Amino acid sequence: MFTEGNDMIDARHEAAHAVVAIRLGLPLAFTTIRHGDVVQGFTEGKLRSVGYTSLAVAAGIVSEYGRGKARNLHAISGDQRDLLQAASILLGVNFESNNVPENVREWCAEQFKKAEAILYADDGAAWDRTRVALLRRKYLSGDEVRKLVGNTSARKW
Ligand SMILES: [Zn+2]
Repeated sequence: MFTEGNDMIDARHEAAHAVVAIRLGLPLAFTTIRHGDVVQGFTEGKLRSVGYTSLAVAAGIVSEYGRGKARNLHAISGDQRDLLQAASILLGVNFESNNVPENVREWCAEQFKKAEAILYADDGAAWDRTRVALLRRKYLSGDEVRKLVGNTSARKW
């Protein structure tokens, strides 16, 4: 019986963050699925804007809900927390995570949809390339991800 390993799920998840970050022109330093480094893979890049960053964060959630893949609830909760934090900053509202206002929920749903559109702009081809390379190498520099994503980042989001 074949069981999908954590590396495969992690590679898909981190590649989603990385591809959206690159397409938005965020300065991604690297992405990795090396044990213990998964979180830094995304946050080490010096991120320029909370709005764009939130889309790259939302991409992780898209990854967990996409195309019948196993859901990694731990990764979802981490990204959701980051997304709610971005919402709090951008919308200027304070709230408890167990009592999220309607406008914040709507904003998060919007970020999810935009991140999904960015990831599937080329039917997910760049995401696939990045996922496969990351699974094989465990670590990719920002420049390597940029090459894998290619010119598909030309569009203005
Ligand atoms: Zn994530």
